[in-house]
Amino acid sequence: MVQEKPDHAEAMPQAGDLRNTPDGLFLRYCRGRLRSFPQRQILTLTGGLAVATLSSPQMGVTVMALALLGEGLDCLALRAVLGAARGGVVPRGARALVTVTAAIQAATILAAVGLTLWSADRFAADFFVSAFLASAVINAGLSLPHHTGSALARIAIHMGGLSALALRSLWETVQGVALVESHGYDLVGIAVLMIMTTGFLSFVRGAHRRQVAYDRALLDEKARLRAQEAKARQLALVAEHANDCVVITRRDGRITWVNDTFTRTTGYTFDEAVGRMPGDLLNAPDTDPETVRRLIEAHKSKVPIRIEVLNRRKDGSRFWMETSLTPIFNPDGSHAMTIGVERDISAMKEREAELARARQAAEDAASAKTRFLATMSHEIRTPMNAVIGMAELLREGPLALDQLHAVDTIVDSGRALLAIINDILDLARLQSGTPVIRKEPFSIFACVNGVIDLMEPLARAKGIDLAADLPVDTPPLIGDEGRLRQILVNLVGNAIKFTPSGSVRVALGLRRTGDIAQVEIGVIDTGIGIAEDRLEHVFDSFTQADGEITRRFGGTGLGLTISRLLAREMGGDIAARSSPGAGSDFRLTLSLAVAQNREARPIAAATPPPEIQTAGLRILVAEDNATNRLIVGRMLSATKAEIAFAEDGKAAVSRALDWSPDVIFMDISMPELDGIEATRRIRAAERAGDRPRARIVALTANAFDEDRQACIAAGFDAFLTKPLNKADLLGCLTFRPVQGAANGL
Ligand code: ADP
Repeated sequence: MVQEKPDHAEAMPQAGDLRNTPDGLFLRYCRGRLRSFPQRQILTLTGGLAVATLSSPQMGVTVMALALLGEGLDCLALRAVLGAARGGVVPRGARALVTVTAAIQAATILAAVGLTLWSADRFAADFFVSAFLASAVINAGLSLPHHTGSALARIAIHMGGLSALALRSLWETVQGVALVESHGYDLVGIAVLMIMTTGFLSFVRGAHRRQVAYDRALLDEKARLRAQEAKARQLALVAEHANDCVVITRRDGRITWVNDTFTRTTGYTFDEAVGRMPGDLLNAPDTDPETVRRLIEAHKSKVPIRIEVLNRRKDGSRFWMETSLTPIFNPDGSHAMTIGVERDISAMKEREAELARARQAAEDAASAKTRFLATMSHEIRTPMNAVIGMAELLREGPLALDQLHAVDTIVDSGRALLAIINDILDLARLQSGTPVIRKEPFSIFACVNGVIDLMEPLARAKGIDLAADLPVDTPPLIGDEGRLRQILVNLVGNAIKFTPSGSVRVALGLRRTGDIAQVEIGVIDTGIGIAEDRLEHVFDSFTQADGEITRRFGGTGLGLTISRLLAREMGGDIAARSSPGAGSDFRLTLSLAVAQNREARPIAAATPPPEIQTAGLRILVAEDNATNRLIVGRMLSATKAEIAFAEDGKAAVSRALDWSPDVIFMDISMPELDGIEATRRIRAAERAGDRPRARIVALTANAFDEDRQACIAAGFDAFLTKPLNKADLLGCLTFRPVQGAANGL
């Protein structure tokens, strides 16, 4: 809305009002008196000529000179006052001066009148003089509202003259000096004149008051009209020059007015638009019919609406409008018109579409990246599985010491290569999408303790003291134990790796507030430390504290990046403090929900290690890759179990149904029927035929969480990632959850 500004016209009433202020009135008196000087002199001249004719020419001249003297003096004073009154302000003393000169002027008139009386025959000029003085009183009275001082001075002097004349007549009548009858009439005439003059003066005052009040009311009304006009002008300007299209429609929906922006935007002139329905002008065949229906409905039911519409210009081109319709009602409640304000939002729509395209492209790229990673993962892991599996089998044979060493190197290097691939895949997954963070009850004590147990041999081999500082009575928490273990293995692994001698201490602190536990796990070592300027960078991808470190300790520089990403995904963080040569302190903070009792489950670590009873066990290995079949077969050959093989999913299903194996190792990606579908069918057949439930273990090169979820949904019991490890494979033969590297679901 445009702010209403007082314009020049609106300031006028104040100027008009100035006329009626005391100063304004006084200056008007001064100017009026000067302006009417010539008229007054007609009276002087008439009087002078009368005296000259009726009395003597010398007396006529004397009388006129006297009158002119008084007038001249007064006019000089008035001119001086007007000259000095700057900006409508009357100078001090001006009123007194003008009152004095008015009194002098009145006195000269009175003196002239006295001379006339004196020079005339006895009583001959009485009536003439009375009339003259009465008209002088009236004349003075006219300026009463403008300058009371001078008016009263004049009235007093002239009235004084009149009264003196009346008293003389009365006196002479009483004394019987003159003709009684004519004097009586003169006396009454003078009295009547005086009464009339007084009445006239009070009428003049009243008229003046009414005039002033009327003037003021007129000025106020004018000001109100001007303000209204200015407002209307501003509103019209707003509508005309608005950057939005403004369309006014009648009750029947036809256009009565459009602004210039409408013409510019749509191409329709004012005359082309007026009288038409907006829809007829602007709707395109591809305008959404639902939008049109809603617009018509809103107009009919006289409710406001704001909606985005695809419109058509006169030249046929399309553009998007955001249309806002507001019905306007008459004071009696009837619908007067509808005002439509419409904004061209084509550019915004285009940007929206661009953004959507860009988002789609980014999503496509991300999913292409994920697919690529999944494929690469599978493609690299499958041959690696063969290399490592075969090398492990070779290791079991009789080998010379140097051969054993060569085979160990193959196994170690293969596993190291796989660890790097896993890290890269993990990081790519974390960065390209939202990783799935599990929320399951777990024991933080068991988790940290498990990591210590796992890393203990490594520390011992380096001669480093690995100590843990753990509170015993930790409540069960809700979180992702696997991911937490991954972070801790990395932090403790780094601490051991970068500590040539000394100790590594793991401290668990837990502060509980209500249902939330603030967990802080510190991993503190006495190792080589990190220079201050490198400290934050160790969390960047592929960044190590310095190049020398890579050569001395190996590593990819991904561990901390992944750990911090994971910690942040879990709503926590990792911070580091370090001083070169003295050691480092990595601190993981998390806030985790405390599990309610019913959510707690027995901690897996507490279950006793299972005894493997394999005699008479039937094992089906479903695997399309011949090398992998060979490896799994060789790994299982140590058991007393019966082993059968299937080369694809279909064969696996029919073999499972004919032979009823106890355990099935099922590859996930197989021709004909994949492992997931094969498992679904086996489970369905088991349910339908009331058959004993086989333990089905997924073998997959894909280590992603979704694969794990898909396996759970299909009915798998456990999940092994390739390359396979003999211990894990054998661990799956039991009917208990598998621990360690094998992934029990
Ligand atoms: P990696 O260990 O594979 O090189 P990380 O991301 O785990 O990758 O670590 C990045 C770098 O941070 C390491 O290369 C090392 O320079 C430094 N660093 C990490 N932990 C420690 C530690 N406990 N003491 C000294 N330096 C460390």
